[in-house]
Amino acid sequence: MGRPMTPKVFPGVPADLVEVVERHGRVVAAGDNRAVLADFRPDRIGQLIASPSLPESLTSAELLDLRPEEGGLFAARIRYTAADGGQTVLRSRWIRLPEGWRVTEVRNLPATAPRMTTAGPAEDGSDTPHWEGLRAGEVRVPRCDGCATWIWPYRPICPRCHGFELSWVAVEPTGTVYSWTRTWQPFAPEFSGHLPFVTVLAELPQAGGRRLLGILLDADGVDPLVGEPVRAEIEGAADSGWPVLRWRLDRREVRQG
Ligand SMILES: [Zn+2]
Repeated sequence: MGRPMTPKVFPGVPADLVEVVERHGRVVAAGDNRAVLADFRPDRIGQLIASPSLPESLTSAELLDLRPEEGGLFAARIRYTAADGGQTVLRSRWIRLPEGWRVTEVRNLPATAPRMTTAGPAEDGSDTPHWEGLRAGEVRVPRCDGCATWIWPYRPICPRCHGFELSWVAVEPTGTVYSWTRTWQPFAPEFSGHLPFVTVLAELPQAGGRRLLGILLDADGVDPLVGEPVRAEIEGAADSGWPVLRWRLDRREVRQG
């Protein structure tokens, strides 16, 4: 089959961009890496190559949606079908540069959080009770038996009274956003297919204000606010690995207000 006789029409989208994006889908599906790279913004090539995750052998691409966004960007959703029938949707954002339309951002949809290869207890096993807590569906934080100081990250000695006796206490799995960042760069191989993602440092008032790191769920296009409530969700591992703690914004109250 050749090119479709009637190109799709998308409101508010320049016709030449529709053509470029449809051709982009075809060269990606064909595995023509030189042509794919030529569509990327030159100053972001390294990031754009490693951001999405696609199966090896693709048979076709279908442009599902193309729409204007703020800042002169256009967002395209392209669905790729693999030889085994599996389907993957990528969203690319396009910008017009002097040399032509270029991809400035690309990601897999739906947005899913990466699982770090380092997930699990420290080598010396000092924080194993925390991870065992996650397996039991609890967020456990150590507390000094002597002076009730909450200790996180884990240390074998209470920083306040220098006691050695401590207990791992299950705390309510909620907190507030102390800080957050969105990661765009593929710093580790396991990030591919999950970029960008948002990491939240959440403060737990019920644990003396100790702060726990976790990736934010459903964070595509969402900018958290400092002080916003978050709730922990414990995500099990597909294999026999350790579950991981994720955060989710708790915006119900905001919507009701
Ligand atoms: Zn103490």
